[in-house]
Amino acid sequence: MATHDFLTGLPNRALLLDRFTIAAALAHRNKAGLAVMSLDLDKFKSINDTLGHDAGDQALKVISTRLTGIIRASDTVARVGGDEFVLVMLETKRMEDATAIAQKILDSFAEPLSIDDHQLHLSTSIGIAIYPEDAEDLETLTKKSDAAMYYSKGHGRNQFKFYGDGDVRISGDFKSAN
Ligand code: GH3
Ligand code: MG
Repeated sequence: MATHDFLTGLPNRALLLDRFTIAAALAHRNKAGLAVMSLDLDKFKSINDTLGHDAGDQALKVISTRLTGIIRASDTVARVGGDEFVLVMLETKRMEDATAIAQKILDSFAEPLSIDDHQLHLSTSIGIAIYPEDAEDLETLTKKSDAAMYYSKGHGRNQFKFYGDGDVRISGDFKSAN
């Protein structure tokens, strides 16, 4: 499928860009914001290594369903890589909505996944960038949310960080000169 990920049925990167473009136009008109969230599962490879690739696939499907259940109908969650997801969501109160949803996602991972009679404990690391403050295009926003996600990974995993937290930066970022 040209618009959806085959394994999980989630939107792919192409559809994500389409959805983002529409959401950004609406946000701009309504003087609202958007939150772009990068999410990468923690130590996911160990599931494949211990239970096999099929169990890993099952876990990805269950996680996708959970993520879809957490976001609002107007928001988008896309699978953009093996164990990487990007969420685009309407942000009405700056940071507050994104904080609540990121926390909800982390909490949802506290519930073990039942795969092949096994109870799997997984967590995820999250990074968040805000439109239009951090950038107005999806490419730069995801670079920044990715940088924040890697910061979360590097600082213990199973948490979320905003772009601009700590020393999260991308190269060529003029903020760092301030
Ligand atoms: P980290 O916490 O650093 O993210 O560790 P990780 O093990 O999750 O490592 P990383 O994100 O770099 O790698 C993702 C792994 O996910 C690599 C591969 O084993 C697995 N993976 C990627 N795509 C698929 C898939 O479609 N199905 C399954 N079962 N596994 C996948
Ligand atoms: Mg990972």
